[in-house]
Amino acid sequence: MPETPSHAALEADFSDFYDRALPAARMAEVEAHLASCDRCRAEYRTFCETVGKVAGLGRVKAPSDFDTQVADTIHRRSEGRFFGRRAFGDRVPFELLAVLSLVAIVIAFALLRGR
Ligand SMILES: [Zn+2]
Repeated sequence: MPETPSHAALEADFSDFYDRALPAARMAEVEAHLASCDRCRAEYRTFCETVGKVAGLGRVKAPSDFDTQVADTIHRRSEGRFFGRRAFGDRVPFELLAVLSLVAIVIAFALLRGR
């Protein structure tokens, strides 16, 4: 077996080796090389630590009050337009006022015409 190209080729296979996705023969080769090569063993240890850290990040749970925090943040940043605790009373119901004044105008118009 040639010794020179195997270091780089081995590093290229670290990911598949870690996932046990290599053909059995290549798994044995990588394992044998790691057992005999300090440099690649150190590289592989670093690789495993990195993968472990990234995988650990993926498992972080959202805080239990995450949805409340999101609603609070939206409420604050929208200056109270969304997710307000008091839905009514702290804002003028312009839609309702518009409908009421339209009805009042129609009634007034009908009364004036009816005379
Ligand atoms: Zn090596």
